[in-house]
Formats: sequence, structure tokens, C-alpha cells
Amino acid sequence: MGTYVVTGSASGMGYAAADRLRAAGHSVIGVDIKEADVVADLSTAAGRHAAAEAVLTAGGGVLDGAVLAAGLGPVPGRERQIAQVNYFGVVDLLRAWRPAFARAGRAKVVVIASNSTTTTPAVPKRAVRAFLAGDGDKAVRSVRFHGRGAPPMIYAASKIAVSRWVRREAVGDDWAGAGIRLNALAPGAILTPLLEEQLADPRESKAVKAFPVPVGGFGDAGQLADWMMFMLSDAADFLCGSVIFVDGGSDAYFRADAWPAAVPARGVPRYLLRFLRHHRATRRPR
Ligand code: NAD
Repeated sequence: MGTYVVTGSASGMGYAAADRLRAAGHSVIGVDIKEADVVADLSTAAGRHAAAEAVLTAGGGVLDGAVLAAGLGPVPGRERQIAQVNYFGVVDLLRAWRPAFARAGRAKVVVIASNSTTTTPAVPKRAVRAFLAGDGDKAVRSVRFHGRGAPPMIYAASKIAVSRWVRREAVGDDWAGAGIRLNALAPGAILTPLLEEQLADPRESKAVKAFPVPVGGFGDAGQLADWMMFMLSDAADFLCGSVIFVDGGSDAYFRADAWPAAVPARGVPRYLLRFLRHHRATRRPR
């Protein structure tokens, strides 16, 4: 049985994941701003540092896996916290825990992204770039002119950036090369306290209810936790840098033809050209 960290363990999908892991006999170190083994505020650098250290101590320097579920929804007035928790609350912790995952041998990490990544129109690229450059304040400044639209913009930008960070890192020597599998899960509308807060606001509720979900209704935290359990299991040994959408079909509804997309003829990365040349040169004639 292993030792797993779950951030956002006090509520919603994080709670459901921690519950399933414990039921399967694993040790769980829950991290949250309330009601957790490690109580920490992930919206500050000091809180993240303290959480990272406390988890490493609790796990004895070895972690078999993690679910990064702490996050804030697109609520007005919380733009800074959304940026800090949703992006840096993942990236800073994972950087600190990476050696502990490597020590475990076959660790698996699941980052909770969102289908807002592919269904929110006109997310400023500058905000995504600022996150990936490590500048959360600049990311928040980049969405300010959106006014009432700023919370969904910073929310989607934080989730796009964290998904890209996962894909970039997952394939490198530090992660794939160290036996760690790093992937993301992109849920759609899941009925948790986060969504309930949005539904309690009449204007937001209208928008949430109007959003097309081909299978109908909302998802359930337990269903998503089942996907996380699968992605933490050895069945996921060959899953690397993937973003799995579990959203009742909304992403496919809006973006059926957007991806998978062929590599564009222009701007093909050099390594790919080398691979294609090598492949052509070594291909056996039929
Ligand atoms: P939730 O509100 O039920 O749980 C989120 C948890 O994060 C809470 O326990 C909260 O205390 C914790 N948290 C928030 N701020 C924190 C901070 N500063 N420090 C430490 N912990 C903090 O929400 P949920 O729906 O279970 O969300 C889990 C993840 O899923 C989030 O990252 C969210 O963005 C993402 N998500 C949710 C939905 C949805 O519809 N519910 C859809 C897509 C993605």
C-alpha cells in the first residue's frame, strides 16, 4: 500500500479521491486550507512552501502519487487567489515533491485541470504566457480589462497554463525518465461546493445551465474520483502527459475538429523532421 497526497482534500473531488484512496488501504496526506492533515493556504508562496515541507516530512521523503485538486472557481473578486492556487498551488508543490515521487519508483500524479481550457472563448494568450513564465500578477493584470469577464478568463488561463506545464514536464527526464507518470484530468461541470457557489448566483447560474452538456446534467465527484484512481494505478504506466476530458461531451460538442490535429507543414519542430527523415531512410520497401 502506498502514500498519496491529495490537495483540496476537504471538499468535492479532492475529498472523494482521498476517500477512495483510504478505502483502498492507502495512506493519504490531505492538504487544504481547512480540515486536513496539513492545513495550509496555497494562495501564498509561504503557505505552499510550508505545505510542501510538511508533506515531505509526513511521507518520510517518499510519495507514491498525488492528486492536485485544490482550486477556486471563477468567482468575482478572487482573481489573485484563483491565479495563485490553481496554477502555483500545483506547480510549486509538484516541483518540491518530484524527488519524493522519483524515490517511489512508479509514482503517478493527477492534476485537476478543467474543460474551460478548450471551451472558454478568447482567453488572453498573454495571461497563459505570464503563468508559464512564473508571473501570476502579470497574468491577473492581463485579464483586468475584461471587467466582469475577468474571473472566467483568469480561471481558464490558469487551467490552460497548468495543463501545458503538465504536458511539457511529463515527457522529460525529470518525470517520465524518473519513472513518474504526470497527467491531467479535465472535468466539466461537476456538482461540488465550487459549482454550487456558482449556481447560487442568479446570473452565473443562468450561464452554467445554458452551457451545452450533450449527456445532460452535471457530473458527480465520485465518478471523477474513479478516473483519478485509474490514473493513479499501474494501468496508467503508459499514460504520460495526457489531458483526459471527462465532461459529458462539452469539449467534443464545441471542438470536434480542433484536435487531434496533424502537425502543421510549417513550423515542424526540428526533432520531428530528424525523426521523419530517419524513418524514411530506414523504411523497408513494401
Ligand atoms: P471544491 O470547492 O469542492 O474543493 C476545492 C478545495 O480546494 C476545497 O476543499 C478548498 O478548501 C480547497 N482550497 C481552495 N483554496 C485553497 C487554498 N488557498 N489553500 C488550500 N486549499 C484551498 O471544488 P471542486 O469542484 O472539488 O474542485 C476541485 C478542482 O476541480 C479545482 O481545481 C477546480 O478548479 C476543478 N474543477 C472543478 C469543476 C467543477 O465543476 N466542480 C470543473 C472543472 C474543474
